[in-house]
Amino acid sequence: MAPSAARTGTVERIVIENCAIATVDADDTEYASGHVVVAGNRIESVGAGKAPESLANVVRRIDGTGHLVTPGLINTHHHYYQWITRGLATDHNLFDWLVALYPTWARIDEPMVRAAAQGSLAMMARGGVTTAMDHHYVYPQGSGDLSGAIIGSAREMGVRFTLARGSMDRGTSDGGLPPDFAVESLEGALAGTEETIDKHHDASFDAMTQIAVAPCSPFSVTTELLRQGAELARRKGVRLHTHGSETVEEEEFCKELFGMGPTDYFESTGWLGSDVWMAHCVHMNDSDIAAFARTGTGVAHCPSSNARLAAGIARVPDMLRAGVPVGLGVDGTASNESGELHTELRNALLINRLGAHREAALNARQALRLGTYGGAQVLGRADAIGSLEPGKLADLVMWKLDTFAHSSIADPVVALVFGAAAPVTLSLVDGKTVVEGNHLTTVDEDAIARSTRDEAQRLARIAAQG
Ligand SMILES: [Zn+2]
Repeated sequence: MAPSAARTGTVERIVIENCAIATVDADDTEYASGHVVVAGNRIESVGAGKAPESLANVVRRIDGTGHLVTPGLINTHHHYYQWITRGLATDHNLFDWLVALYPTWARIDEPMVRAAAQGSLAMMARGGVTTAMDHHYVYPQGSGDLSGAIIGSAREMGVRFTLARGSMDRGTSDGGLPPDFAVESLEGALAGTEETIDKHHDASFDAMTQIAVAPCSPFSVTTELLRQGAELARRKGVRLHTHGSETVEEEEFCKELFGMGPTDYFESTGWLGSDVWMAHCVHMNDSDIAAFARTGTGVAHCPSSNARLAAGIARVPDMLRAGVPVGLGVDGTASNESGELHTELRNALLINRLGAHREAALNARQALRLGTYGGAQVLGRADAIGSLEPGKLADLVMWKLDTFAHSSIADPVVALVFGAAAPVTLSLVDGKTVVEGNHLTTVDEDAIARSTRDEAQRLARIAAQG
């Protein structure tokens, strides 16, 4: 696992020192003042005090005074295309919100999806996300290479990325929620997904692009798509992702159509397992949580979206206690307009304290773990990312905590989680700079502002024509 090149002395090193460090390793090791040495695309060492002066090939030595260094944040649920339909249907529950937005979403094309992906990725990367994901499930006929546009945007930004290739094949005429014109055929969805895996999935340790099989939800896909999608994923050795147990309406839908709740329905179709992660999981009883724990099924907790759509509070403390892997998700920005993940650390903590466990629900370190190591677990990459340990990939963030916004809080992890959204002085992905001085280095932020506004207006015009 460890890079042999680093030992040869030919690889370039970046040293960050004089900073607080939260490694998020198994022991939650922290340093009040320490150093991180990056060699190539790997973390070479993490420790207390300054890095040795004698290190060879140091191309950059960064004074991290006033900063906290953490693993890069990992987003586990999102829908990038929604960046250009933000701020609509603002007072709806999930089903009413979906029905209001499906007709607009069905009109998206490749330039719109590219611009929306750039906007979504920019917002997250600037806020310390180093591994991003997109669950894209709207593929209108003749709309171009949407998966290619999304993956290309992530490559250009320089972030590590998972595309969950989604699909919908249960239109209203089959008892589903989306209109018939917004769905694919069963065969088309499976073929499109397989093609995306063959073309883009990289199974290697330091992969920048991975693909997952991701039918949208029980109320928008057929049982056959779930079954055959699971078979496809296991044949190809990729992960499985979908929405589960988001609202009471979904639970009622499953009971009416399938005679069982969502978790039992997922189990009957092959959708529980250590290679599966599901978004939301708000309406879970004790036996649902036990089934997730028994099978190793992961959860993408999306607190802001759940609040925005009045879905409820996921039982994250109970899931963690049972041993369920839990990461954090922004969710699509039509139901979480901010599009930021670093603020979800705080929201996850606050919202879970409104639930049954009150002040004991989550603490600052547990919230940071959800957004880092927990995300790596649910994406199946905990061996490579999610904590700062020698041999792991060099994905890390330097949070600036010495301005008036944070400087009076002594504990840096508390400052990061409880305090205002902290600026990112430096973000490295695979050892390369993506954010410097709170600005993206790989893309033009102003150009993204223009293209996302233009594409949002173009979509609104097309949708208004009906
Ligand atoms: Zn979602």
